[in-house]
Amino acid sequence: MLALTLVLRLVVAAVMFLLILFFGMTFLRGVGRLIPKERIEVEDVADLAVFFVCGECGTEFQVTRLGEVQVPRHCGEPMQVVRRPRPQPLDT
Ligand SMILES: [Zn+2]
Repeated sequence: MLALTLVLRLVVAAVMFLLILFFGMTFLRGVGRLIPKERIEVEDVADLAVFFVCGECGTEFQVTRLGEVQVPRHCGEPMQVVRRPRPQPLDT
């Protein structure tokens, strides 16, 4: 009987935990929806020659489309945003 009560308590605790988790997540999602995220139109920046450069190892990523600016990390460091002059077209 004692063991059954213990199991019952554990089950109730688990159910409550899941319920709280569920409502918590729902609440947070609702709050996130209420606060409008600053939406930036996805911009085609392939012509602007924007690069993410790793200061540690020199790896470069060219940015061709820019949505929300999230600077990636490389070698554990945030990459530098470098804007290079547009390469001159060969046939001018
Ligand atoms: Zn790196």
